[in-house]
Amino acid sequence: MDPDFLDITLVKVLSGLIIGLILGSFTTMLSYRIPRKLSIITPPSQCPHCHTPLSKRDLIPVLSWIKEKGLCRHCHERIGTRYLIIELITTLAVTLAFVVIGFEPALIAALFAIIGFVTLATINVEKHR
Ligand SMILES: [Zn+2]
Repeated sequence: MDPDFLDITLVKVLSGLIIGLILGSFTTMLSYRIPRKLSIITPPSQCPHCHTPLSKRDLIPVLSWIKEKGLCRHCHERIGTRYLIIELITTLAVTLAFVVIGFEPALIAALFAIIGFVTLATINVEKHR
């Protein structure tokens, strides 16, 4: 196999993972705040139980959740697995988009579509359970 092909694929996968984790975190915020009619600008993210503002170390997508075993670092209440699941699904979808579409303008449209779809799907699932 052409080594350049492997190099560019690796760059796409790594880019997709990084952007995917960031967008996954953004998507969890949207899917929590939109149905509750909260601003998506302010306040900064906080624990849904004790309302302690989250610091940078609490906001690392996926890793923070795993490190704290799904519990708030301050009040030790359970943080829903929704955060982990949404971040993982978004990261997977974004990584696939990077690999399949590549660095093309259509990638931007795909990223918006992924954010919109995962946000709406999450709101719908949580509304009907
Ligand atoms: Zn808390």
